[in-house]
Amino acid sequence: MTGLTGDFELDGDTLHEECGVFGIFGHPGASALTVLGLHALQHRGQEAAGIVSYDKGQFIAERHLGLVGDIFGKNSAHTATLKGSFAIGHNRYSTAGGSAARNIQPLFADLTGGGIAIAHNGNLTNARVLRAKLVQDGAIFQSTSDTEVIIHLTARSSFVPVVDKLVDALKQVEGAYSLIALTSKKLIGARDPWGVRPLVLGILEGAPILASETCALDIIGAEFVRDVKPGEVVVITKDGIESYFPFQQHAGRFCVFEYIYFARPDSNVEGRNVYAARKRIGEQLAKESPVAADMVIPVPDSGVPAALGYAAASGLPFEFGIIRNHYVGRTFIEPSEGIRHFGVRRKHNPNRAILAGKRVVLIDDSIVRGTTSKKIVQMVRDAGASEVHFRVASPPTKHSCFYGVDTPNEHALLAHEMGLDEMARFIGADSLAFVSMDGLYRAVGEDRRDPSAPRFCDACFSGDYPIRVTDPMENAQLSFLAEVA
Ligand code: SF4
Repeated sequence: MTGLTGDFELDGDTLHEECGVFGIFGHPGASALTVLGLHALQHRGQEAAGIVSYDKGQFIAERHLGLVGDIFGKNSAHTATLKGSFAIGHNRYSTAGGSAARNIQPLFADLTGGGIAIAHNGNLTNARVLRAKLVQDGAIFQSTSDTEVIIHLTARSSFVPVVDKLVDALKQVEGAYSLIALTSKKLIGARDPWGVRPLVLGILEGAPILASETCALDIIGAEFVRDVKPGEVVVITKDGIESYFPFQQHAGRFCVFEYIYFARPDSNVEGRNVYAARKRIGEQLAKESPVAADMVIPVPDSGVPAALGYAAASGLPFEFGIIRNHYVGRTFIEPSEGIRHFGVRRKHNPNRAILAGKRVVLIDDSIVRGTTSKKIVQMVRDAGASEVHFRVASPPTKHSCFYGVDTPNEHALLAHEMGLDEMARFIGADSLAFVSMDGLYRAVGEDRRDPSAPRFCDACFSGDYPIRVTDPMENAQLSFLAEVA
């Protein structure tokens, strides 16, 4: 889910997944388990978290800024209030200035026929058009989130019961969504017809669970049942689980970037283990772009599996030549203007004893603006490396994402503006190579040249957007930027 208005400022040179969702139905420890599930999904959103539970005819909501552990940790008063055996939760990536608190999910509303809480991962690509019409018709929005558009459309639907209202609303929206909704009697999961963002079904002691990734099941000892399918709506009640396919069917276009960077490496998404896929991308990269060198080093943490794959396929030793500080928060305060250029050192520090005099293959998952890559290459050179060959475990990121990942405008993307040699000069590398699109598909077990093989969304590399973007492109882009505090 993304914000639709607000001030914005891009703070970084990495792509960010926007949200993680978790829901559990019929377990006495529902809210505590949701806290743990959200904690496992923390990588999908670090700015805010919320949980809505249902108990004795009442929905209870706790939504706050901060990390899951800080909000709902041990002895937290917030967790104590969340009674009941049904709960859904949401991790939100980012916030937009003054509108931050009111955009924290799950969003909740009282409708004819009862209340509904919704937690959404993705981004709607016609939200602005729909919102403008709803406002014209008298709707009063409480937040700037595109998810609230779904709430208003659900509220206005003439269908009954509430599941049919929600499906009626989802038939009107375009874009990417994996969402979880809670009513007084039902837990509902829905994935857009292209299945861009992940959603899995699990079970713990007879209680069904919906979550963005399998790592959220692992943390609570739940069993993985299956992925929710593209275009599927699952309705969980005390009588069991029902499955519907109410939307026009499309071939799935799962986000291939989930394998490259967004999902946790210990998760399985769409039937593939993320760590194994990343390692195979590194192997492909070594086959496609070998280089004479002394060692392979990752930009930690996200470059590690691909670097292991590159090292295995090339026969070069793998070394931790850069050490990552795991205690750097987004709220870190720069000491003063004068030493701001040490920014990258807050997070990464070179291991001089390993790097001095060595020809290094440096592996990272992607290049966005290129400014961080440039600093890391310089840092490795300053630590004494004699050559730095940069290898990227994704094709060049040339286009913006409109489906739930914050990306800069495409003119700020290095690969959109420059060719390979110019990019290599810009980041200061002796050589630069990206994995090919065919190699990427091969690494995730598919043949891109085979028209009958599954396709992914790869629009940020190819510009081939599977879902239309009805909102004006510039404005749709703003919705991502508005998310970044
Ligand atoms: Fe994923 Fe890129 Fe498609 Fe966005 S545009 S859904 S990041 S593959």
